[in-house]
Amino acid sequence: MSKSLQAIRGMNDILPEQTPLWRYFEGTVARLLDNYGYKQIRMPIVEFTELFKRSIGEVTDIVEKEMYTFEDRNGDSLTLRPEGTAACVRAVLEHGLTGAGQPQKLWYIGPMFRHERPQKGRYRQFHQIGLEVFNIDGPDIDAELIVLTWRLWGLLGIRDAVKLELNSLGTSESRGRYKVALVGYLSAHLDKLDEDSQRRLKTNPLRVLDTKNADTQAVLVNAPKMADYLDDESRIHFEGLKARLDAAGIPFVINTKLVRGLDYYSKTVFEWVTDKLGAQGTVCAGGRYDGLVEQMGGKPTTGVGFAMGIERLILLLETLEQVPEEISRQVDVYLCAFGEAAELAALALSEKVRDQLPNLRLQVNAGAGSFKSQFKKADKSGALYALILGDDELAQQVIGFKPLRGQGEQQNIAFDALAAHLATCVVQG
Ligand code: ATP
Ligand code: MG
Repeated sequence: MSKSLQAIRGMNDILPEQTPLWRYFEGTVARLLDNYGYKQIRMPIVEFTELFKRSIGEVTDIVEKEMYTFEDRNGDSLTLRPEGTAACVRAVLEHGLTGAGQPQKLWYIGPMFRHERPQKGRYRQFHQIGLEVFNIDGPDIDAELIVLTWRLWGLLGIRDAVKLELNSLGTSESRGRYKVALVGYLSAHLDKLDEDSQRRLKTNPLRVLDTKNADTQAVLVNAPKMADYLDDESRIHFEGLKARLDAAGIPFVINTKLVRGLDYYSKTVFEWVTDKLGAQGTVCAGGRYDGLVEQMGGKPTTGVGFAMGIERLILLLETLEQVPEEISRQVDVYLCAFGEAAELAALALSEKVRDQLPNLRLQVNAGAGSFKSQFKKADKSGALYALILGDDELAQQVIGFKPLRGQGEQQNIAFDALAAHLATCVVQG
């Protein structure tokens, strides 16, 4: 195939054999979020570039080197969204959803775009489900966000494979004091830091904590800790969160190096990590961003949220073999008809059955074919039952009903009795 007819590197098709698992995952999350009282919001995939620069921060991996930015025909600089929070805050402000201190519990789902090096669990188009809560500032809501993800891991059967890491970044004032201490310490060890960290020391010193470089990590062992610089308000908030996680029985570890890649976090930050996916181990990450809405031109409005990477969670379900068997079976009944007259009768009959059983997954053979070929298709479809209609059956106004997975004998059912019969043997979702 010529190069122009290939998908862009790092941007994947999700093929029919994969979509049942995606839909199972997305459906499970959507139901859970409904049950916790979150409302879905849908934002555009493209926004003004300025939005991301202002919210995510100029000195972050995303804004420095990962954005898909282009000029449109009006000469405006636009960017494919690299994450959801910025657009969600923009939408909330634009439509006054948080006016007068009104609380909002929102969620979104969709593709995100980052120009990174594609590898397992890291793509250029990937998908997130994200939650954002506005105007609720206590640790109770931070806890709820974590509690509901814990419940999700339980529903998906992956609890044992994920670990919760927590940290508090304090308020911007206490973080400012910590930054001074950190920069002071690291400057005294400048020659032992890797090049990236030397640069970050000047532009975004907290990010040095995030380094993968072993020499820099060695220097960090004795570096000042944010925990020792926390203001009282943040400390009380953090204690409140930990107490709630204890009450809910959710294990966690404190990771003082957890700072997250984005500039806008304050107080709580957390990540759910797994050791089952190699280097791309963070499946869900988030935190509190009390200053962001104001920074983006709104009234002071607290916020807290997270985003989970769908591809990584799908990979985890597959790796742990937690894919429920029934999700890949998408056909209950497969109808085979032989000859023009039988096909016409089959069409009328199948539509009548659909009227009576709207949830029945009934596939009618298309493209004619011999008995052998239609039967093969019926079997391959995964259907539990085949219906068989030829001239003989048509003459008697009956249809052959044949269990395909060894549940009982073949029998003839009168046209009029078909829907009632199917209702007794197919569990309808
Ligand atoms: P990482 O450290 O792995 O680059 P991040 O801190 O950049 O992650 P966030 O911006 O917090 O990630 O996004 C939340 C989640 O979205 C991540 O925890 C991950 O599960 C997922 N994610 C982020 N970038 C990608 C990507 N390029 N491909 C697939 N999933 C991703
Ligand atoms: Mg990243």
